[in-house]
Amino acid sequence: PPAAAAAPAAHRPGERPIPAVIGADLRVPVRGGGLVPYANLDYAASAPCLEPVYAAVTAALPAYSSVHRGAGYASRLTTARYERARETVRAFAGARPDDAVVFTRNTTDAMNLLARCLPEGTTVVVFDTEHHASLLPWPRAVRLAPPAFPGEAVRMADEALAGIDGPALLVVTAASNVTGELWPVAALAHIAHRHGARIAVDAAQFAPHRPLDITALDLDYAAFSGHKLYAPFGAGALIGRPDWLAQAEPYLRGGGAVRSVAETVEWSDDPEARHEAGTPNVLGAIALAAACEALGATGWTPLIREEERLLARLRAGLAAIDGVHELCLWEPDHPRVGIVSFVVAGRPAREVAEELATGHGIGVRDGRFCAHPFVRHLIAARLPGAAAAGGCGDGSIGAVRASIGIGTTDEHIDRLLAALREIARG
Ligand code: PLP
Repeated sequence: PPAAAAAPAAHRPGERPIPAVIGADLRVPVRGGGLVPYANLDYAASAPCLEPVYAAVTAALPAYSSVHRGAGYASRLTTARYERARETVRAFAGARPDDAVVFTRNTTDAMNLLARCLPEGTTVVVFDTEHHASLLPWPRAVRLAPPAFPGEAVRMADEALAGIDGPALLVVTAASNVTGELWPVAALAHIAHRHGARIAVDAAQFAPHRPLDITALDLDYAAFSGHKLYAPFGAGALIGRPDWLAQAEPYLRGGGAVRSVAETVEWSDDPEARHEAGTPNVLGAIALAAACEALGATGWTPLIREEERLLARLRAGLAAIDGVHELCLWEPDHPRVGIVSFVVAGRPAREVAEELATGHGIGVRDGRFCAHPFVRHLIAARLPGAAAAGGCGDGSIGAVRASIGIGTTDEHIDRLLAALREIARG
């Protein structure tokens, strides 16, 4: 693999070193000519690939074949690798032994699959703070306004669920892709269960940064994406209670999802087979599992400590720049993962992001982050007029997002802050 430019953060005695990401030596063109090292601060969109993930994919390439249905060596080996990947993902997510672990394309796919498996008449309760992947798939949803504090989220969910007759599902993100804020998912799970409802957690931004423990949090379902978890694109997972999945129409109709086909079709009642018709993305599953293994082997203590150190540097730096306003739903000291969205007063988010890219070799995201209602709320309802006026530059509201993870360095953060000081000065 390409050498990593930045040495991984130092580890303490007794800790395993944090693995390196590949491609950290990427150099990118900037205005005026020349190349500078790329400062990738866009992990929340897609995180770079870890070296052990690259190694696992490379090792799987020389001998692969279709899974489950072949007698040949390569097919058996691939089947074993694929099913081992499923068990690795199960362990990483702290899932129960009888939970289904369905490989999907990503979180969006996982939530859409779950939406297709809801029992007739299920009402979904969802906050307007969700990413569209978790806001939009539901045929029948009660949408709740952004809560003013975490306890209010629990109270609002309690009230909404109390008013529902029939099956109900509460859908909530564990870590916001806009603010990084952590949601009280254990308390929400407790409330959901008290009403006989279930809870599904969007862990797309949580799983790369905090230990996901479906059993300890008492979640019914969780979903996440490999490409945000230091594996390349194309694989994610829906994990959770098997009963709804086993009874639903297969997500895709085709080979692998059936027990037998004659005049009538007998679908498999194994929830994983039933919803994984067709040849699966085996390399994607192997990559996702390798990322889970690498994070698990490193342990969360050094990962969280390093992320929190970098995040504190970033947030303190942003707070010190006149005209830069961070978007927070809750108190500024509410716990969060390494994601920060902000506006620069009077400067369209698109213009800021482009200047960071072309002038400084820094990659961030701008816009509404597939969370239109939430970003609109944060900007329109929370920011002073001059700051809110920045927007996307096309008349719509928008912000800039910087996000960090393994491979982020102090230099990346300092370069962003220096560039923003320049941009904010105008
Ligand atoms: N949920 C959250 C919180 C996200 O941040 C994202 C991606 O940005 C998604 C869901 C959707 O993920 P994917 O595009 O991998 O389906």
